[in-house]
Amino acid sequence: MGDSFFKPISGMDLPRFAGIPTFMRLPHVGADHPRAGEVQIGLIGLPFDGGVSNRPGARHGPRALRDASTMIRAQNGATGVRPFNLARCADLGDVGPNPVDGPDTLARFETYYAGLKARGIRPLSAGGDHLCTLPVLRGIARARPLGLVHFDSHTDLYPAYFGGKTLTHGNPFRNAVEEGLLDPKRMIQIGIRGTTYDNVDTDFAKANGIRIIRIEELFARGIADVMAEARDIVGTDPAYLSYDIDFVDPAVAPGTGTPEWGGPNAFEAIQVVRECAGMAIIGADLVEVSPPFDPSGNTAWLGASLMFEILCIMVGSL
Ligand code: MN
Ligand code: MN
Repeated sequence: MGDSFFKPISGMDLPRFAGIPTFMRLPHVGADHPRAGEVQIGLIGLPFDGGVSNRPGARHGPRALRDASTMIRAQNGATGVRPFNLARCADLGDVGPNPVDGPDTLARFETYYAGLKARGIRPLSAGGDHLCTLPVLRGIARARPLGLVHFDSHTDLYPAYFGGKTLTHGNPFRNAVEEGLLDPKRMIQIGIRGTTYDNVDTDFAKANGIRIIRIEELFARGIADVMAEARDIVGTDPAYLSYDIDFVDPAVAPGTGTPEWGGPNAFEAIQVVRECAGMAIIGADLVEVSPPFDPSGNTAWLGASLMFEILCIMVGSL
């Protein structure tokens, strides 16, 4: 692809600390930009953490991820993939939330993503908390349920907290299954650990055929074996990839609201994404980076690196 417009600014041309920090130094292409119709994969910020039940801060994630992502170069050193040569990518900006009104925010996000789907743009989003995934799926998966590969310490399959029908970052995937946005038989959740309230989440998984890989099983079998099973379950029909940064051990990635010990190191965190090659990932997100808990900036840097790895998978099924 010879068109230089959709290429990131190289650190060879302008130092990485200079310029406006868009995602991966891509052009910022808003909805009214004359070239908006040419974008194939849009990188989008979702600065909303109104679904957090304990430690907030993920609303600041997109800005920190953009800043850290200026360190990303054009080529994947391990796989050789050059995503910006294979797809027209752009930073589409943030979807504006209403920070004091969750239902209004979810409606705004859903409308935005339905618009992207209508224009044929595949989203790679940066949260925000994990509740942000629900309106994304409402926007892109109403016509046909998607498969899901989900990296997380938590299943996010709980019923409502605090009674009623409250939506939180602990229940987006239960709601997505109940709304017919995800095919539970094509869902796999990897990395689950930590203390729990009870078993209502895993009971829901069992009743619906959702495969859960606890962290003990991931480490006992190894990444290659587990991810081969993930590819079998998700198959080659359209699927979504959702990556909660709390999948990673908090020694590596402390900047998140709900850390759980005993998780993957940074290499393992990256490797599981590379093992998704072959899946038809038509949308993805990296969520729960919370800069107030990330004084070193390492969590945002790992998150930005994971977004690049996810992008390298997404370009494989365009
Ligand atoms: Mn989560
Ligand atoms: Mn989590």
